[in-house]
Amino acid sequence: MVPYVDLKAQYRSIKPEIDAAIATVFESGEFVLGSEVARFEEEFAAYCGVPYAVGVNSGTSALHLALLAAGIGPGDEVITVPFTFVATAAAIRYTGAKPVFVDIDPGTYNIDANQVERHITPRTKAILPVHLYGQPADMDAISAIARKHNLLVIEDAAQAHGAEYKGRRAGSLGDLGVFSFYPVKNLGAYGEGGMVVTANPEYTHKLRMLRDWGAERKYHHVMQGYNYRMEGLQGAVLRVKLRYLNQWTEARRARAALYTQLLADTGVITPRVLPEARHVYHVYSILLAERQSVMEHLRARGIQFAIHYPIPIHLMTAHADLGYHPGDFPVAEDIASRVLALPIYPEITEAQIENVSSAVREAVAVKRASVG
Ligand SMILES: *Cc1c(COP(=O)(O)O)cnc(C)c1O
Repeated sequence: MVPYVDLKAQYRSIKPEIDAAIATVFESGEFVLGSEVARFEEEFAAYCGVPYAVGVNSGTSALHLALLAAGIGPGDEVITVPFTFVATAAAIRYTGAKPVFVDIDPGTYNIDANQVERHITPRTKAILPVHLYGQPADMDAISAIARKHNLLVIEDAAQAHGAEYKGRRAGSLGDLGVFSFYPVKNLGAYGEGGMVVTANPEYTHKLRMLRDWGAERKYHHVMQGYNYRMEGLQGAVLRVKLRYLNQWTEARRARAALYTQLLADTGVITPRVLPEARHVYHVYSILLAERQSVMEHLRARGIQFAIHYPIPIHLMTAHADLGYHPGDFPVAEDIASRVLALPIYPEITEAQIENVSSAVREAVAVKRASVG
């Protein structure tokens, strides 16, 4: 059996430190925000190479508040991709703004920068690229378009903790950067969590109020706000885990390199990485000519897998009212029908990677033999 993820293995490897960190919060009684969250914010901002970070209760809340802090609301349009987790588009809709989709690049599956400009209208306020699977989008091209049209850039870096573009960390590449600490993310809480990072002190001030009922100080509510505060326990856990993030990222990158090596010459398409990018492999997805038979073969061999993502957002029932149709984003639709994510996490062994790779190799070979 090869599980798709294994959160217990990671906990066992750092148990004494985690247990001590949790005890600190229980002893202090700082269950919501508090000093552990404040220190984690400082440490995570430094990790991203930005001056400010604001901790919240999920990546979705972080997206919502980043958009609100940027002043986005009803009547505005935000350019993003249909090939992402649903939260990216949902958060835009929470503000009353409209997500305007742009198709993805067939190599990286990130936003196709060449197609952005023709979707800009007088209502466009921001571009929201997603660093899908842990690889930064083509940020030079996106930033140039944003400057030319006076648009903000908000990065969905929920899958890209520690990823780099030309040596700069994800989250520091736009006006605001958003992270998720959902347990399976590269930096995962023991529960829900999220963060907005920025170099802008005004956004920071607004974000801090928005996450805590719009209060400037206790009971002085100066704007409509939310209960989006980060829990003290998550701050304490994430501080411990942040110290291991570089090591875990290196392990992910080594595991990915091994897959890529073992799957070479199988006809399977392995991840394409931009020369400017440092990919952190939240997901290791391969592209197959025909997915079904490979999934059946992996299942029979006890190997778990996932599909990120089987249905592009423009074809989801929940977002049908946006008025898109099949065929609107042919690359996203094609990739969605053929990608398959293989197990990858820092604790997966080389033997397990070899096992998964040979199962994929067999499945593809069988398919070829039966076709040929
Ligand atoms: C996980 C994720 C989110 C949402 O984060 P949550 O913490 O689950 O709310 C948003 N965007 C992307 C690309 C994600 O992968």
